[in-house]
Amino acid sequence: MSFSLHGLAVSQGIAIGHAHLVSHATLEVAHYTVRERDVQREVDRFEAALATVRGELNALSAEAMSPGSPSELAALVNVHAMFLDDPMLAELPKALIYERRCNAEWALVQQMEQLVAQFNEIDDSYLRERKHDIVQVVERVLRALLGKPRKFGKKGGKGEKGDEGELVIVAHDLSPADTIQFKKLKIAGFVTDLGGATSHTAIVARSLAIPAVVGLHHARPLVREDDLVIVDGTRGVLIVDPDARVLEEYRLRKSELELERSKLKRLKTARAATLDEVEVSLQANIELPQDIEQVKEAGADGVGLFRTEFLFMNRDTLPSEDEQFEAYRQVAKALAGKPVTIRTLDIGADKTARALVGTERQAPNPALGLRAIRYCLAEPQIFLAQLRAILRASHFGQVQILIPMLAHVTEIEQTLAMIEQAKQQLRERRCKFNEHVAVGGMIEIPAAALSLGAFVKRLQFLSIGTNDLIQYTLAIDRTDEAVSHLYDPLHPAVLRLLSQVILSAQKAEMPVAVCGELAGDPKMTRLLLGMGLRHFSMHPSQLLEVKQQVVMADAEQLATKVGRILRCDEPERIREQVDRL
Ligand code: PEP
Ligand code: MG
Repeated sequence: MSFSLHGLAVSQGIAIGHAHLVSHATLEVAHYTVRERDVQREVDRFEAALATVRGELNALSAEAMSPGSPSELAALVNVHAMFLDDPMLAELPKALIYERRCNAEWALVQQMEQLVAQFNEIDDSYLRERKHDIVQVVERVLRALLGKPRKFGKKGGKGEKGDEGELVIVAHDLSPADTIQFKKLKIAGFVTDLGGATSHTAIVARSLAIPAVVGLHHARPLVREDDLVIVDGTRGVLIVDPDARVLEEYRLRKSELELERSKLKRLKTARAATLDEVEVSLQANIELPQDIEQVKEAGADGVGLFRTEFLFMNRDTLPSEDEQFEAYRQVAKALAGKPVTIRTLDIGADKTARALVGTERQAPNPALGLRAIRYCLAEPQIFLAQLRAILRASHFGQVQILIPMLAHVTEIEQTLAMIEQAKQQLRERRCKFNEHVAVGGMIEIPAAALSLGAFVKRLQFLSIGTNDLIQYTLAIDRTDEAVSHLYDPLHPAVLRLLSQVILSAQKAEMPVAVCGELAGDPKMTRLLLGMGLRHFSMHPSQLLEVKQQVVMADAEQLATKVGRILRCDEPERIREQVDRL
């Protein structure tokens, strides 16, 4: 039966394909009864999975002994091996399988929950946090029990109702770490029940340039595996089992959109300048070095934001200084002299990495907690390793360092002192780097926007992170679809903060960019130009649409009109005027 669900449009375009249901937590396992005569086989299956994981941990342990391996790896592997052999995880699930004739996955998760509950009672915070190790070990065993994950890209073939052989991921929720893995796979689109429009999951979807809708509430329970679905990422709709007429209509719209996209490619080499000859720089946001291909294809003027935290995700150990250096150098060299703005680790809030155990603690309010520069200053060894890696890469291109989530002068000063310390360490090692590497700050907390003088005095450039600036100005969790209707980039308070930062930076002759999602929204380009913005950084897939807006704009006329908008307090009038710009 055909039906549709409405959610938040987060990544434009149309995908037509077959649904593949995924759960982001491996721990959401099925529960079923096994036949009497299969009980022993279920126990054997469990033991075989334990043996597989033991083998994996032995291999990791050997790796941990090799020179240059981070010392944390050995400690981590030991802790995991210890939990794997704990009778609570290794023996009691077997008793449960015999007793209840249940499947091994379910028995294991029951025991894990009991063990985690016991750890939750521990007063010592260090010991309490070890519960995350338990979960990680259990995830390993579950992966072994469930066999290899399905190869998303291999499915293909003809669907019953059409020629759509592509896959559409349907999930209750996806973390940014889950989503970034789609970069390696061929996925037509995805939809989730949870999530906000500027959550990092949505941001990664835009960077993949695949249609996506989030906040659908009931997609995961209602959609069945292999259902034919249409994702309308422009209007925020998921259509399940469409009838022939709707399917035809969407196929037509999909090919029209593809045609428009290919026409836009003509703008790739066009100069980004307004009709009144104001030059605008259009740079790209990236998550991984492999995104460079897209950056080049879009003809970007550089990388305005390299979200380095994605290098730290989906792995059990931290990337070493050398590994990071290679990633940063690769980008710097590929950009051949164009600016490459490397943002230091912005972990925390919705971005977690299991290798960074500290970020996995249950912060009472993660978006306001130990995130980004706060985390880095609390973990100086991790921060120094990253700074050294970035500095070393600065020898191979026009690298600059960007610091996220600054709010206090002391944070700037401590960060600058650590950069100096990292430089000194490199001098002692006789490593080459650019002594004059520029250091900039993200303006994404209202406190920073309102005390800009202190930032201008100490830094060499600014980049406005509108995703967080809006979140923190309006007190709206950007990942929570329950309040997403209140996440309003056109709120007068947001517009005034933005304009104020741009004007103050210009007065101080300091380069200022916007690198939040606003910069890549072609409906906002004229507004930002009118505020005086001349540096935009966005996903490469959005760059040509924004360029199209720039080349049709008159910056001087826009400045006058935007001046009027900034004096307005009425949301509806602001919206009307922005639409008419
Ligand atoms: C922002 O906050 O606007 C930004 C660019 O950083 P992130 O989206 O990674 O938080
Ligand atoms: Mg941010």
